[in-house]
Amino acid sequence: MKLVSYELAGAVRLGRIDPEAGKIYPLGDSETAYGNDMVALIERHPVLNTALPTEDSGVALDQVKILAPIPSPRKNIFCVGKNYFEHAQEFTQSGFDATSKRGDNVPDNPIIFTKAPTTVIAPGDDVPLHAEQSTQMDYEAELAVIIGTGGRGISKAAAFDHVFGYTIANDVTARDLQLKHRQWFIGKSLDGTCPMGPYIATADEIDAENLTIQCWVNGELRQDANSRDLIFDIPTLIETLSAGITLEPGDIISTGTPAGVGIGFDPPRFLAPGDVVKIEIEGLGILENTIA
Ligand code: MG
Repeated sequence: MKLVSYELAGAVRLGRIDPEAGKIYPLGDSETAYGNDMVALIERHPVLNTALPTEDSGVALDQVKILAPIPSPRKNIFCVGKNYFEHAQEFTQSGFDATSKRGDNVPDNPIIFTKAPTTVIAPGDDVPLHAEQSTQMDYEAELAVIIGTGGRGISKAAAFDHVFGYTIANDVTARDLQLKHRQWFIGKSLDGTCPMGPYIATADEIDAENLTIQCWVNGELRQDANSRDLIFDIPTLIETLSAGITLEPGDIISTGTPAGVGIGFDPPRFLAPGDVVKIEIEGLGILENTIA
């Protein structure tokens, strides 16, 4: 099932999306059962392998505004740094990585940082340029995992039982701030720097370990990879995070970006006003945003 949060006539609702038909089918009890809150839905149905009841008459996509599937996460988004070999290499060699020396490419353990909940914006929303804070904004196409059943001390073997579904995230990064502050948080957490969506595909319909991930800037293909090439796979990330941190329903883990980001080029190619970043992941649709 593909689930969306959307806005119609000023009200937020939850629904099932059928991208091919170009329609959204509202969940009949979106308001009464879940208060139109995707995290409340995930709490009620941490494993969703049967369809929820929807209204028969769909709403055309052009009648609604699609929101990020979880428009206001309850806590920071967990993110993973340097989780594809070629990207780890391009990042270290770029000189923008304050955490390691040149030549020291591949991490021994997952590098975890977070983005503030206020980074999340909808598909189609403009990404603020933040020109007074940064002149080096960059894109990062990523597969994001949505936790269903929470828990602590989750083993790799049990990890996928705790996944509700998947979506697309763009981990937009202010490279100059990421370098300047050494800890990545500020460079990763400027308002509006986490476009997300367009929907959550539930775990039963996605083979998360074999998904094509592609990203274009102004129509030019920049990133083209597969999730099977993650250095630390999804079970390892869940086991590592949950070892001493309780994961909760609706938590988001963005698994890291492959090679081809702006700082991978020489000279670097940073984002400029009007640039359009389009990300497509197999089974998860297209996430497109313009730089303001
Ligand atoms: Mg990233």
